[in-house]
Amino acid sequence: MTTPEKALVVLSGGQDSTTCLFWAIQRFGKDNVEALTFDYGQRHRVELDCASKIARLAGVRQTVLPIDTFAAIGGNALTDDSIAPEEGARDDDALPNTFVPGRNLVFLTFAAAFGYTRGARHIVTGVAQTDYSGYPDCRENTLQALQLAIRLGMESRVELHAPLMFMSKAETVALAQQTGAMEALAWSHTCYNGEVPPCGHCASCILRARGFAEAGVVDPLVARTGKAG
Ligand code: ZN
Repeated sequence: MTTPEKALVVLSGGQDSTTCLFWAIQRFGKDNVEALTFDYGQRHRVELDCASKIARLAGVRQTVLPIDTFAAIGGNALTDDSIAPEEGARDDDALPNTFVPGRNLVFLTFAAAFGYTRGARHIVTGVAQTDYSGYPDCRENTLQALQLAIRLGMESRVELHAPLMFMSKAETVALAQQTGAMEALAWSHTCYNGEVPPCGHCASCILRARGFAEAGVVDPLVARTGKAG
C-alpha cells in the first residue's frame, strides 16, 4: 500500500480558493487535504472568519499563519487603511492598487515550507492568469519559476497546482458546481470593500457577478445575504 499524496490548499476565504479547496478534496480525498490561511494584516478581517467557516464546512483541518510584514510595508489598498480600492478597469497597463507586491510569492513559499514539515508536497492555489487584474504573480510563468526555486531551495518534489489558471470566471463557477463547493461559496468573501452583503460595485464584486451571470447560476452568497448595490 502506498502512502497517500497530501495536499495543502492556500485558503483566503474567497471564491477561487474555496473552489480550489473542493477541487483538492475531490482529487486527493478529504483526509489528505489541509487548508492554510494567511493573516497578512488584511483590512477586511471578515475574510479570516470566512476562511475558517469554509474549512469547517469542508471538514478539513485549517491552520492560520500570521505574517504582519505586508501591513508594515503598506502602500496598497488591501493592507493600508488610507488607500481606497480602485473601481473599474484601468485603461493603462499599470497594476491596480489592490496589488500586494510579492504576496503570492511569499504565500506559496511559506505554504511549501509548511507542507514540507507535514509531508504535503502538493500546494494548491486559486490564482488565475485570466484574472482581469493581471497580477504578475498569478501568471503561470511565475508559478513555474517559483516551483523550480522551491524544489532547488528545499530539495523537495513540491508541485504547485493552480487549477483555475486558464479558466474564465464562468468556468470556475461550473467547477464549483461539479466539485460540490456551492454551499461553501455562500460563505466566501471577495468584496474589495469588505462588505457583507457584497457592495456590488468594486472590481472584485463586478468580476464575480459577471462569472455567475455567464454561467447562468445564482451566486449562493447573494442568495444567502441579499445583494447590495
Ligand atoms: Zn465589492
